[in-house]
Amino acid sequence: AKAAGRNTRRFFNPSMQARVLEHAEVANDIRKGMHNHEFVLYFQPQMGQSRQLIGAEALLRWNHPTRGLVAPGGFISVAEETGLILPLGQWVLESACAVLAQWAQSPKTAELSLAINISARQLVQVDFVDQVISALHHSGANAQRLKLELTESMLLNDVEDTIQKMHQLRVHGVTFSLDDFGTGYSSLSYLRQLPLDQLKIDQSFVQDLAEQANHTTIAQTIVTLAKGLDISVIAEGVETEAQCIALTNYGCEAYQGYLFGRPMPLEELVAMAAQ
Ligand code: C2E
Ligand code: CA
Ligand code: CA
Ligand code: CA
Repeated sequence: AKAAGRNTRRFFNPSMQARVLEHAEVANDIRKGMHNHEFVLYFQPQMGQSRQLIGAEALLRWNHPTRGLVAPGGFISVAEETGLILPLGQWVLESACAVLAQWAQSPKTAELSLAINISARQLVQVDFVDQVISALHHSGANAQRLKLELTESMLLNDVEDTIQKMHQLRVHGVTFSLDDFGTGYSSLSYLRQLPLDQLKIDQSFVQDLAEQANHTTIAQTIVTLAKGLDISVIAEGVETEAQCIALTNYGCEAYQGYLFGRPMPLEELVAMAAQ
């Protein structure tokens, strides 16, 4: 059945037409949504080894007038395909910097870092570095608190160009985390070339931990790898105490997941920091 599927000639059928129309509709909706300020950032707590709050990841949400609060799965791919991810990503960057500048005003939040997700289309922009630097300058945010999450696949487009941009931003103090680590296909030698500060263990490997208690897990291997590269490591999708304990035993330094908090509005994250 698989082979037949692969050999099937693609042609434009009514269901595809419906999809194209839906696609165009979503794209228009995104444009309207940006104009009407319907996009918001949610913040998911990140905890350190002793389970103290060390920062957050900003995750995009769409406060849609009829669809309700929409997660990125419902619009990110359309935003990527249409290029709308560029203005949207710019908004995320500027909003995150504004939040960091605000956090700097209070001792309870001044030390927190904030991670944002960067899409491949943003990274390949010739003025990507300028965009980040000017967002930092305009907001007054401390570059050292801003973490950019990249994924393996996007780094492969033009490795030299990516490395150069990362170095330029690192001079200013910006840090980099490699998101969804382990799901891509980067070779280890290539990993060593990248000026990374952190590996982020993909949640699929964290979910596996419960069933694989007796042998070496991929999560454990990634922690060891990070230590070998002398960079930090964070696990995402930590949902249970058992997963967290296993990760701690491996030497994992930071955690993110429903065990500690779901993505939440800014005020809730700030309230968590005040505790
Ligand atoms: P991601 O960067 O891998 O983010 C982690 C996703 O896992 C988030 O989904 C988060 O809500 C979810 N998650 C966190 N903890 C747990 C857990 O304990 N269990 C489970 N099952 N899931 C957990 P979300 O918010 O729906 O975001 C999905 C993806 O959309 C993100 O995956 C990221 O790739 C993308 N995205 C989100 N915000 C942005 C953005 O501002 N820009 C770009 N380019 N992409 C974004
Ligand atoms: Ca991420
Ligand atoms: Ca991830
Ligand atoms: Ca992911």
